[in-house]
Amino acid sequence: MTISINMKKIYLDYAATTPVDPEVKKFIQPYFDEIFGNSQSLHSIGQESYRLVETARNFIANMLNCQPEEIIFTSGGTESNNTAIKGIYFAHRNLRIKHIITSTIEHHAVLEPVKFIVENFKDEGAYVTYVPVNSKGIVDVEKIFESISENTILISIMHANNEIGTIQPLKEIGEHLQKINKQREKENKPKIYFHTDAVQTFGHIKVDVEELKVDLLSASGHKFYAPKGVGFLYIRKGTKIEPLLHGGGHEFNMRSSTVNVSGIAGLYKAAQIAQDVMNEENERIKRLRDKLLDGIISKIPDVVVNGDLNNRLVNNINICIRGVESEAVLLALDSEGICVSSGSACSSGSLEPSHVLLAIGVDPVVARGSLRFTLGRFTTEEEVDKVIEVLPKVVDKIRKISPIA
Ligand SMILES: *Cc1c(COP(=O)(O)O)cnc(C)c1O
Repeated sequence: MTISINMKKIYLDYAATTPVDPEVKKFIQPYFDEIFGNSQSLHSIGQESYRLVETARNFIANMLNCQPEEIIFTSGGTESNNTAIKGIYFAHRNLRIKHIITSTIEHHAVLEPVKFIVENFKDEGAYVTYVPVNSKGIVDVEKIFESISENTILISIMHANNEIGTIQPLKEIGEHLQKINKQREKENKPKIYFHTDAVQTFGHIKVDVEELKVDLLSASGHKFYAPKGVGFLYIRKGTKIEPLLHGGGHEFNMRSSTVNVSGIAGLYKAAQIAQDVMNEENERIKRLRDKLLDGIISKIPDVVVNGDLNNRLVNNINICIRGVESEAVLLALDSEGICVSSGSACSSGSLEPSHVLLAIGVDPVVARGSLRFTLGRFTTEEEVDKVIEVLPKVVDKIRKISPIA
């Protein structure tokens, strides 16, 4: 990392956000200076911005295996999820009953818009089914299929979980839905749309909308070395959806607001780099992750690993350390220059146990000792060695001072 303030820090919280890659930063600079135009302007400065945005759209469409017109640039994961869920709901309001299916381990950026709809529109026939996951953190596909009713309009299942890194069987769900939708089409009934929150996977593993058979897909730049405040939503052609932002008609009328050209430039460059280094980086990171996990387990007694270790992002470790509060460990590590997460960034600040850990059946008391380590592009072997050295001492000290059950 080039930022001097971070020189000595060991950052193991890449699932919360990533630093901007230095190459991305360099690539963006001209879009603040000479190429600052409004991409809608007809003059040459505007047209240069327009060209960048369309080049980025083409590149990302190519990565996803879709058409450029199916990509809408947004402000990130939260907006993309809100647009997908509320947008589909609003486009189907005329139906008598509207049923949404999602899982118990979704990010709050999916759970909250779903909750908003159900709480505010239950009088007009909105309801939701939360499908459970097994103890390994994989969604119960059979339960999804059983939950589908003739009123189902939307299924939203995340690609990989942000807390425990487990990768969900989207393809299996997508294939089943395709069969149901063929039948529905014959009977002239509304389609069931399939949305995925792919914020943890796009830029990290291959994401192909035809393979996964999804209709909507959310991604966010700051989870793969682009700046914060930029992302995209894939919307399959023909999808019945309403925009959230009305105005100048940008992004094929789906997302009005002057286009975030510099952000999209960053997203484009970060996606290019991601594609180039993905396989190599995943091997490197997996090796470091495994070394860190082995080190932790062999040196600290009473550690439980949360979630499936096979169907999982290669950079994720989520553990519960018995007899400690995660916040105490997190703060002690921070004072040693090591930054980790106590579970998920969104539920930190509250001392409530994580909804994901509770969903996979972790005891609420044990869940209070959860820690998440997420490795990334700038993680080194020396850093991993340092954590293996420091963490056992920290845990030992805390266990001695404040023994809890
Ligand atoms: C970070 C994250 C989000 C939110 O994305 P923003 O770009 O920060 O709004 C949504 N879903 C998942 C799975 C995430 O990890």
